[in-house]
Amino acid sequence: MKLNLNIQPLSSWIDLKNGPLLIAGPCSAETEEQLLVTAHLLAKTGKVSVLRAGIWKPRTRPGEFEGIGSIGLKWLQRAKEETGLPVAVEVANAKHVEEALAAGVDILWVGARSTVNPFTVQEIADALKGVDIPVMVKNPVNPDVSLWVGALERINNAGITKLAAIHRGFSSFEKSAFRNEPMWELAIQLKTLCPELPIINDPSHICGNRELIPYISQKALDLDMQGLMIESHMDPSVAWTDAKQQLTPAALGELASHLTLRKPESRDKEFSDKLAELRTNIDKIDDQIIQKMAERMQIVQKIGEYKKDNGVTILQVTRWDEIMHKRSAFAQALKLDLDFTTKLLELVHNESIRKQTEIMNKEEIVG
Ligand code: PEP
Ligand code: MN
Repeated sequence: MKLNLNIQPLSSWIDLKNGPLLIAGPCSAETEEQLLVTAHLLAKTGKVSVLRAGIWKPRTRPGEFEGIGSIGLKWLQRAKEETGLPVAVEVANAKHVEEALAAGVDILWVGARSTVNPFTVQEIADALKGVDIPVMVKNPVNPDVSLWVGALERINNAGITKLAAIHRGFSSFEKSAFRNEPMWELAIQLKTLCPELPIINDPSHICGNRELIPYISQKALDLDMQGLMIESHMDPSVAWTDAKQQLTPAALGELASHLTLRKPESRDKEFSDKLAELRTNIDKIDDQIIQKMAERMQIVQKIGEYKKDNGVTILQVTRWDEIMHKRSAFAQALKLDLDFTTKLLELVHNESIRKQTEIMNKEEIVG
């Protein structure tokens, strides 16, 4: 499947300052002073292209700070006038859209909790009909690329062509070092569906803490993402929301200057020839793996039929243990990662069980 979005390249609607797009600003606008001081410090780094600030905050529990509301739009206007930075806010309903547009906000974004809900996204899309403004769509909270795609399509169908996706990670039940699991493969899936769609990474919401932000930022750029949205506050220690994942503007400037920019491709002939040769080898090996896998499954089929004829169960735990031990030791001797090998073997084993179950339960055709 390919996604047919009608979109304009990022560089046509934002000044990229010769680097990846850097969007920065506080999680929430708190006071006029906090927003203005932060905005000036961010502008001074010379690295930031867009000032962000949450005005209406989706909070998990009632009674928490739910954003400063419309008054914050005036502060944003002032920050924009004084720093020259375009400003971006999150919108979650038609009223937010109208107020943000009236206040001259330059870029809107749809938050992760809105992307999950097609009614909400459609309401936002309807409010945007006939308006020419860039919109960024965060991934939904849950790991579902279709919902992300659906939201992008709804906004695009409303006539918004200055469109980007924001990868902010996904909720997961598993305990992890991250606040939201990056699940990079889902962002890659989106990129494969629509290569021209810019994807911006949000390390703050992925990490949930300052320490991991540089690592995730670099990884995002290495995966050819077009920009970063990072929360920054003049004094993160007293931030009213997301205090642990905001950087001071100075730390943000420092981070930006230490990012390594790599090119998605190179025009150097020697490099391209060498890469082509290595890729040919990879293709050959991949074909061999598939070929061997097919052979393995044919043997699995024979074993399944043999077990069925002899009334033996599919799973023999001791045999599985033996496979795991022997193969893992072999893989480790070959310097393969143990976790990777275990997952691979489990995948192959599950497929073998699936195949044998099919054989065991196939009705005999009497004829
Ligand atoms: C935010 O950007 O402050 C925010 C609420 O993000 P998300 O929608 O990713 O949770
Ligand atoms: Mn936040």
